Amino acid sequence: MKLKILGTAAAEGWPATFCACQACVRARQSGGHNIRRRTSYQLGDTIHIDWGPDSYNSMMSFGLDYSALSHLLVTHAHWDHWVPGELQWRLPGFSQLPPAAHLNIYGNEMVEDRLIEELEDDVAECAMSFIRIEPFEVLDLGEATAVALPATHAPDQQAFIFLLEVGGAEALIANDTGWFADEVFDHLATCQLELLLLDCTYGTNDKRGGHMGGMAVVETAQRLRKLGALAPDCRILATHFSHNCGKMHDELGEFFAPHGIGIAYDGMECEL
Ligand SMILES: [Zn+2]
Ligand SMILES: [Zn+2]
Ligand SMILES: [Zn+2]
Repeated sequence: MKLKILGTAAAEGWPATFCACQACVRARQSGGHNIRRRTSYQLGDTIHIDWGPDSYNSMMSFGLDYSALSHLLVTHAHWDHWVPGELQWRLPGFSQLPPAAHLNIYGNEMVEDRLIEELEDDVAECAMSFIRIEPFEVLDLGEATAVALPATHAPDQQAFIFLLEVGGAEALIANDTGWFADEVFDHLATCQLELLLLDCTYGTNDKRGGHMGGMAVVETAQRLRKLGALAPDCRILATHFSHNCGKMHDELGEFFAPHGIGIAYDGMECEL
């Protein structure tokens, strides 16, 4: 099954809407992999991870069909990952959903509160259900399973990173987290990850509180390898970049290449 990386930027996008910093000027000039939407993912045809402000743009840019979606995992309630108002268009009169279409949404309490607040109609009328999730809960997504691991991010809510399993292949999507808690490393020690996506909001700068960058990304990958959590050919990618890090796609690549870590870009596909 294909995991498509739809966006690889932090909250403001890159170039950021109103920004005239050198990193945004250079991204506007050079385009290509330096243009980054807000972070989200699609797994196969039925599973989506995060629903941010660029969901519609991603559908248009990458030729996606959201009518088949059945499961939506939401990492946390920050605006770059959760814009529930647009789910309104599932209502009869706005969309003709396929027969028996239903979308299960999984998230924390704040994700649920914002869904109820920002949706003008009832969740059920939009052919959706909300499922509140807890750390280490295992979610049956039909074609895949997910384990909701606790992130170290946003102290006002329980943010999650997701461990996905598809036909025996394991992948960890770990954006919007700082340095992992020991219990998360312990859990991952029982895995054989074939794909690892790590938060790199700070680019090459070495920070690890709330988000990560530089050596925190390298050291997380090294620790997971030491724990036996990575398959021998595990693909490791840095993602969720802020323009404030100042490094273009190729410059990030030069920093991380010696450590066997690649740089995610919008539209990148990984086979699971
Ligand atoms: Zn974010
Ligand atoms: Zn900027
Ligand atoms: Zn966040």
